[in-house]
Amino acid sequence: APGRLTVVGGPMFAGKTEELVRRVRRAQIAGRGTLVVTHDLDSRYGAGRVASHSGVAVASRSVDDARAIPSILSPDVRLLAVDEAQFFGPELVPVVLDLLDAGLDVVVAGLTVTFDGRPFEPVPALMAHAETVTRLTAVCSVCGADAAYHVRLHRRGPVGDPLVAVEGHVGGTESYQARCRAHRDPGPGSG
Ligand code: ADP
Ligand code: MG
Repeated sequence: APGRLTVVGGPMFAGKTEELVRRVRRAQIAGRGTLVVTHDLDSRYGAGRVASHSGVAVASRSVDDARAIPSILSPDVRLLAVDEAQFFGPELVPVVLDLLDAGLDVVVAGLTVTFDGRPFEPVPALMAHAETVTRLTAVCSVCGADAAYHVRLHRRGPVGDPLVAVEGHVGGTESYQARCRAHRDPGPGSG
């Protein structure tokens, strides 16, 4: 029988990775073979694991192209989980559809929106194909309302500023905040 597709989408800080890890853990408890895949570009937590902002983590493999995913699947894998789907681009969609047809269950987590509030493929397209969509929101950093968006803020600082040095940039750095509809404009001097 074909597999089932679950898509977990939302802005940054919505708990997408927590939900993906929760689903992977449940499959592992059930004795099902799992594989977690992320993109080479997502090296924030080091190679070999995906981790949430709250600290839950699970072992992963990384690839630099969606078309490489089938080649790292061993025959015992029943559930494929893909985190940070936006890094793979639209090429992820046909790869996932083929694996579903081949009988794998697939969970995909990723951003639904860019930092300037536009739909961010491939998650919206994958939602159209999914048996289950888990749409998550974050908490607005301004007012605490449900946040469907995130914004990019630039922080300027002198060379040697600890905040700057930590992120490895000279003369400035950037950070992201979850924002609700009323506060989705990052405001003057930012963005
Ligand atoms: P995502 O993968 O969607 O970016 P994570 O699963 O990595 O999210 O992290 C979710 C966790 O981030 C929350 O459980 C909470 O502990 C923390 N967090 C930090 N800032 C926020 C915020 N603005 N809204 C919601 N959760 C936040
Ligand atoms: Mg995440």
